[in-house]
Amino acid sequence: MSDTEKHAFQAEVQQLLDIVIHSLYTDKEIFIRELISNAADACEKLRFTRSAGAEVHEPDIEPKISIATDDTAKTIAITDTGIGMTRDELVENLGTIAHSGSKAFLKQLSEQKEKPDANLIGQFGVGFYSAFMVAKEVKVLTRSFKPDAPGHLWTSTGQGSYEIESAPDWNRGTRILVELKEDDKAFAQASHVESIIKRYSNFVSFPIELNGEKVNTISAIWARSKSDIKDEEYKEFYQFIGHDHEEPLGRLHFSADAPLAIQALLFVPSKNIENMELGRSDSEVNLYCRKILIEPKAKKLFPDWLRFLKGVVDSEDLPLNISRESMQDSSLMQKLNKIITTRFIKFLHELSKKDAEQFNKIYDEYQRFLKEGVISDFTHREALGKLLRYETSALAKGEKTSLSEYVQRMGGDQKEIYFIFAPSRETAESSPYYEPFQSKGQEVLFVYDPWDEMVMENLGRFEEKSICAAERAEIKIDSPEGEALTDEQVEELGKWLKENLGEQVDQVKASKRLVGSPAVVVDADKTMTANMRRLMKALNQDSGTTKYNLEINPRHEVIKRLHAMKSADEELAKSAAAQLFDNARMAAGVVDDPRELVNRLNSLLEKVLAAK
Ligand code: ADP
Ligand code: MG
Repeated sequence: MSDTEKHAFQAEVQQLLDIVIHSLYTDKEIFIRELISNAADACEKLRFTRSAGAEVHEPDIEPKISIATDDTAKTIAITDTGIGMTRDELVENLGTIAHSGSKAFLKQLSEQKEKPDANLIGQFGVGFYSAFMVAKEVKVLTRSFKPDAPGHLWTSTGQGSYEIESAPDWNRGTRILVELKEDDKAFAQASHVESIIKRYSNFVSFPIELNGEKVNTISAIWARSKSDIKDEEYKEFYQFIGHDHEEPLGRLHFSADAPLAIQALLFVPSKNIENMELGRSDSEVNLYCRKILIEPKAKKLFPDWLRFLKGVVDSEDLPLNISRESMQDSSLMQKLNKIITTRFIKFLHELSKKDAEQFNKIYDEYQRFLKEGVISDFTHREALGKLLRYETSALAKGEKTSLSEYVQRMGGDQKEIYFIFAPSRETAESSPYYEPFQSKGQEVLFVYDPWDEMVMENLGRFEEKSICAAERAEIKIDSPEGEALTDEQVEELGKWLKENLGEQVDQVKASKRLVGSPAVVVDADKTMTANMRRLMKALNQDSGTTKYNLEINPRHEVIKRLHAMKSADEELAKSAAAQLFDNARMAAGVVDDPRELVNRLNSLLEKVLAAK
């Protein structure tokens, strides 16, 4: 054509183009995301310009985006009925790398008005060039919205130069026609392109058609204000992104302006899939920037223990054109992570007060995750402690308390929060460790989940009270009843027991806490409890013989008789002592091989029966 003009790209362009093509993006497919983002921006600019009252060419044509693939010609074309470009704008916007017409548009607006309400995606001025990752040649056919502006065709292979000629018959808007390289011809296949559009651009605000059919059907409700959204819409959105037929157990929709601009819509799914032994769940929260997907299932967006969440986080402060690798380490991600995690914990806390029933449903399904958080996440440990719920001696079976409520009930002289680990409420209540609490009417938490020992250990304190396992508690019963062995007798019996029970017993002493039981054992290692021993055994981490301190109840008939028996019939007394020690270890749950115990019990029975 006679008016064709050849332009060289700006000096640094070739170099920058190489960077864009070879290293800025990790996936070639994102060129589709970038071109759709530009088309959406062009539509938004048109909408804005029209509503600002400017005269617009072809005002009746609504802004929309149409994509056409042709797998014989190996092309893909992205067409919009947006604002278009004049010849000068073509040169400026596409001939200059890192020049963003969108940023200039916003800047111009903000000079006129306080706060521009045009919602644009682009601002870096490099996205367009991503087309050259897959293109032999790119053609841009465009006509500005300005009533008397003629159309133009821009053509380039991305090497050194581009050409511009006039295109008088073109309508308002822009078509980017990408002629694909042989290796990249998959981008001319409709089904492949459809999945890419759905992945990255499903929530773009303007209609997107692929070969005549509408692709984006669900709208980005997270970007709307809460008061405008019906429950039904939330449900539909959850079911769409969560691939779930049921309703979610919880939903948090919030937005923040500072320190980061965030819009988030998070769901607690109806089922914890880890409970169903379907393996580890993988966070399904996608990260968006102005409704365009940046990172699906964003890895660093939440701490690991929140991996059950589904939903969307959108932050306009995120750079759109950044590769996933660099995204993951950015300090921006850490900030986002902290803000949303804190907000989510607050949501659960508020829910527990507003709607305890719903909170309990979530707790029942997801408590292991919260506990994992207490154990592994120092930053949020304290806040998570408030969410824990346990059965307690102060409430009926089945009812649960929070640690805060426990602390409120504590009497002035009680310094610590106590818990007993047991497989069930019944075993907890019949445990010798529970005796002093029961006799004094002091509250103890009953914890049944083997993880809780670690939870308590890591939490350490709550509202300035330290947390203590009942077996470790220094607690005395107030006025013990009945006649006791004298101190000398206890000492004598203790020495004899230690001699006869062998290396497993470290110290024997009179117990101040027992009522109905003759003896208890306590791990000689002060940092250990019976449950931790069990956990370590299960993990094959037990090292050598465990030593126990044996506490005997000097008022108990068994102890008094044992003291007498050791001079009358030492053989029988030895058997009885070994049995006493084993019984105490049984009550603590640390006997793994009961064979010896059963044999001994049988010979004791024989003697008892023979005596009568
Ligand atoms: P960014 O989108 O970050 O501004 P791009 O490299 O993607 O950078 O695009 C550069 C500029 O080209 C845009 O800012 C815009 O001014 C212009 N542009 C690109 N595509 C279109 C389009 N479809 N319609 C109108 N203008 C466009
Ligand atoms: Mg762009």
